[in-house]
Formats: sequence, C-alpha cells, structure tokens
Amino acid sequence: MINYLYQEQNWQKQLNDLITDPLELLNILQLSPDQLLSGAILASNEFKLRVPRAFVDKMQKGNPADPLLLQILPHHLELEEYPEFVTDPLAEEDANQLPGVLHKYHSRFLLTLTGACAVHCRYCFRRHFPYQENLPKNEDWLNIQNYIESHPAIEEVILSGGDPLTLSNRKLKIWLERIESLAQIKILRIHSRVPIVIPNRVDDELISLLKNSRLRIVVVVHSNHALELDDYTCSKLAALSFERITVLNQAVLLKGVNDDAETLINLSHRLFEARVLPYYLHVLDKVKGAQHFDVETSKVDHIYQEVLASLSGYLVPKLVREIAGEKNKTPLFGVSTF
Ligand code: SF4
Repeated sequence: MINYLYQEQNWQKQLNDLITDPLELLNILQLSPDQLLSGAILASNEFKLRVPRAFVDKMQKGNPADPLLLQILPHHLELEEYPEFVTDPLAEEDANQLPGVLHKYHSRFLLTLTGACAVHCRYCFRRHFPYQENLPKNEDWLNIQNYIESHPAIEEVILSGGDPLTLSNRKLKIWLERIESLAQIKILRIHSRVPIVIPNRVDDELISLLKNSRLRIVVVVHSNHALELDDYTCSKLAALSFERITVLNQAVLLKGVNDDAETLINLSHRLFEARVLPYYLHVLDKVKGAQHFDVETSKVDHIYQEVLASLSGYLVPKLVREIAGEKNKTPLFGVSTF
C-alpha cells in the first residue's frame, strides 16, 4: 500500500511548497544527480521546474523513466534548436484581443486570469507565453464585457492556462459573478491540471461555487497517464461529477510517457472509473524545447488505430492537432498529412 504524504494537506499550503530544485527532486526520488545531464539546470532556468509534492508522491522511487517524472523533469535536449519548433506554435499572440483574452474560435474565447501553474509541464505550448504582460486587471473587465457584447456569437467562456484553479476561491467567485452577469454566456469551461497534481484543490467551497452557478460548468482536466489517477484523485474528480458538473480529460501524446496503445487504453478506463470522459488526445504542439516528446506520425496512426479497436467509442478521445489560425481543432485520424 502506497503511503501518500501530501495529498490531504491544505491545497494552498501545497501550492506554496512546490519543488523547484531539480536536485531536491532527484534526492526525494532516490535518483542520482547524474540523471541531470549538463544543460538540464540551464533548461530549468529558462522554464523553471515546478512540481507539487503530492504529484511527486505518485512517482516510482528509483525509476528514472517514470512517466510522471519525464513530464516535469528539465532535460538538456530542451536547449537544442529545431526550425519547426518555435516559441508561439499556435500564433496565439495574433488572437490576443485584450489583456487576458484569446479569441480563436467562433462561439467561445479563452480568458487567462493568471500566468501561474501548479506544475510546469515541459511540453507546454504556452511555456514561452508572455503572461505577465497579458493579465487582465479588475479595471479591464469593462473592456472584456464590451468585447463579449460586441460578439453575440460568444456563449462560452473558457478559463485557461496559466491554471485558473491556482486562484483562490474568492478570486474565482469574483470572475464567475462577472461572467454570470452576461446573459449571452451559457457555459463556463475551466481548463486545469491542478485537480490531477493537487487533488485537494477540489474542496467543498469550490464545488459549492460551481454547482450553484447559473452557468453550465465544464471542467476539463489534463491527465496523460493512469498512474496520475490514484484513488484519492479519482474521488475528487468524481465529487465534481456527483454535483452534475461535466468533467472531461485532455491528454497530450508524449514520447516515452504514453506513446503506446495499452497506456492510453488504461488511461481511458481509469478516467471512466473517476467519472471523467476522455475528450481530446492532442499530438504535440511544436513548441521550442519540447521536440524530444514528439511522436512520429506513422506511430501515432498505429497507436490510435489500436485504441479505436480496443475501446468503446465513448472512451476514445478525439485525436487532434491545433493549427494556428484554424477555427477549430483539426481531427487527425485518417488524415495523411498530419
Ligand atoms: S498545467 Fe497546463 S498551462 Fe500549465 S504548464 Fe502544464 S500544460 Fe502548460
């Protein structure tokens, strides 16, 4: 029986006690410092290591290939240059209409309320995003409101990353009430990895806030591997759906982490046990520093065929790529050009 030390601690305490030193992380995991080849510390200076202790608790000690560790450990290959891997692969700066507002799709837009994440995923397509220049202040709300009202097709607001669930419930409530005040908005979607890495973030206050909203609430979590979903984490995810909050998962296909059918099938089954439906399986966005996670196209196709053949349709996430400037995510299966 695994003894998890941290996950029942107060979530804000956990958020204030992240591991940011790669050597401390290796020490906890009983791994040699040699695991960090030269350049990894430099990579960590460019995009800092951040990982909650509760997430580290889920990693296997002594295993340098642990699939959770590989997602967050700085790697010397991040410093290598490849022309097709760029700092803004989705051209999000072009969609940045106002501070915090990214309007890429017809009926919905992204609102980034914070640049902070509880964990730094090394493959993150926003790892170079200039959050600090782009966060909405309270006084920006009037402009955001005007923007929404001048686009009547918008009916859904997506709180996205940085991770909105790093905000306090008090701040979330303020923004929720602002969004609720606009009759045209029907759905609030929250994209967050926090329930996976600090499951205790799903506290009674948050649940109450969401379940009492007049908006339909969709929480899209981000889990890439079934080992992220221990019983405690699953119970917290299920607690959301017990309150009629729709909970979906998006994953990223990552070399060395989940690039085989069996791992993805296990992930779908485990998500379903937590009452979460698999939503998207993204191929890697070509962001500078993440090239070592890229999976070859022929392998992607092969893996996905096996997943399709093995799972009920409702457990199969849509395989997609986001293409800069496109009005929706691009489905990939059966498309020879991805
Ligand atoms: S939690 Fe999401 S936004 Fe934050 S680093 Fe990970 S993938 Fe990026």
